[in-house]
Amino acid sequence: MDYAEHVIDLVGNTPLVKLNALAEGVEPLILAKVEYMNPGGSVKDRIALRMVEAAEASGELRPGGTIVEPTSGNTGVGLAMVAQRKGYRCVFVCPDKVSEDKRNVLKAYGAEVVVCPTAVPPEHPESYYSVSDRLAREIEGAWKPNQYANPNNPESHYHSTGPEIWRQTEGKLTHFVAGVGTGGTISGTGRYLKEASEGRVKVIGADPEGSVYSGGTGRPYLVEGVGEDFWPDTYDRTIADEIIPVTDAESFEITRRLAREEGLLVGGSCGMAVAAALKLAKRCGPDDVIVVLLPDGGRGYLGKIFNDKWMSSYGFLSPDSQDATVGDVL
Ligand code: PMP
Repeated sequence: MDYAEHVIDLVGNTPLVKLNALAEGVEPLILAKVEYMNPGGSVKDRIALRMVEAAEASGELRPGGTIVEPTSGNTGVGLAMVAQRKGYRCVFVCPDKVSEDKRNVLKAYGAEVVVCPTAVPPEHPESYYSVSDRLAREIEGAWKPNQYANPNNPESHYHSTGPEIWRQTEGKLTHFVAGVGTGGTISGTGRYLKEASEGRVKVIGADPEGSVYSGGTGRPYLVEGVGEDFWPDTYDRTIADEIIPVTDAESFEITRRLAREEGLLVGGSCGMAVAAALKLAKRCGPDDVIVVLLPDGGRGYLGKIFNDKWMSSYGFLSPDSQDATVGDVL
């Protein structure tokens, strides 16, 4: 019989799929690494597993302990799934811009969720960073993975995502594109791919326009999970050869096209990464192979990116592209 002992044994080894319709008119082969195929539904399962196991090994997390973390949802899901197996309590702190759907997913796994305002600086006592620090101090047996500073975040990608992509492309990829949030994905995967290719593979970050990685100050943008208003320790500044800024409008348009034209129902940071990959592809040739990482699925964004009313309230849709009514169809 072919089965896994536990759901966490299914983390990683996600597939690559070729982009067809979206890659029309550009020369390189563009391959998407589909991270929603992880059991928790996102790339963050990888870091959750490695951070928890490292904390158990170091004694920072003990039996009966509580995991406290500021998370936009995906890291929480990964941590909740790992915690479920190992018997830990989870308290997650997230900013209010995170969709209610995503918060409900965390609660469904049995986690407690604390919501904080988005529009305050990180040092503000109500910021989600400050609140999670306070909870980590106050709750007995609490351990804060701190995905923004934990070396096991990029390490997990160095040991899993990077080798997988290298093996799946038989070392033929020329470019790796990923969105940057904590920077763990790009730093760990990028470092592995650069080492394996002896510097040949170019690493490209995709960033919401206005975030620090593309020279901004952290102006609020709507795409979730990527961009920062500070430089996290988990971001290795020596890895990315280039950062391509992408607007919310571009990110969301490509996100919707990924569902309709490729059958990939994915999140907004995926559209952002693919938008950057397409900009890059225009400058590349037929022998180039671009791998772009798609961090999560689209179900958590049905009320936003995939909702015409929400999209047009921000001016992202023209009025004639909205839902047809019965009258229109007849
Ligand atoms: N997309 C989404 C939806 C995310 O949750 C994250 C993680 N914050 C990222 C992209 C960016 O990944 P990383 O933190 O590894 O840079």
